Amino acid sequence: MFRRRPFRPPPFRPLGRRPPPPVAPRVRRALRRAHEALERGDAAEAARIFRRLGEEAERRGMPLRAAIAFAEAAYAEAVGGDARRAVEEGERAVEIGAHLGRPGRVAPAVGRVIEALRRGGHEAEAAELEARLDAALEAVGTSRREVADRLAAARGQRRAQLPAKCEACGAPLLPDEVEWHDDTTASCPYCGSPIKAV
Ligand SMILES: [Zn+2]
Repeated sequence: MFRRRPFRPPPFRPLGRRPPPPVAPRVRRALRRAHEALERGDAAEAARIFRRLGEEAERRGMPLRAAIAFAEAAYAEAVGGDARRAVEEGERAVEIGAHLGRPGRVAPAVGRVIEALRRGGHEAEAAELEARLDAALEAVGTSRREVADRLAAARGQRRAQLPAKCEACGAPLLPDEVEWHDDTTASCPYCGSPIKAV
């Protein structure tokens, strides 16, 4: 006869909220190359590096970091005009966010991809990715509007300003996309380095 193990609730921890540890120096250097490539307009190179980093993070069991990297690969593809690949990478980011039960966490980054697609005249692809994001948000009972309102409210409460870029990996730091720990401390969504807002 088997005996049922007594039910023990897991220790309380908001799901997936704990920031992953900072990445290895090698990964940080790759991130820096990718952000620099994007800045000088080499979108294809940036997308290639972000995609590779996303796949690596996925293999290493760091899904949120993978989702962030895929969203950035999608953004680079959208900026570079490869709308089809932008949708594919963007959907990968949404799928992972949905799987983690946190599609809202990737919504701002995926929103940037959608905007870039629209700016580039790729309306059909923008709408396709938007529909996928909306469905993932709806499945957890929220919406883009709600996520945007929540982020705007949080932004309004903060006095401190983020530095423009992450010193460790060169990523531009966007207030809606970094991981905030309190009003003045955050971590870089790409490399996990701590950031002080002043
Ligand atoms: Zn960083």
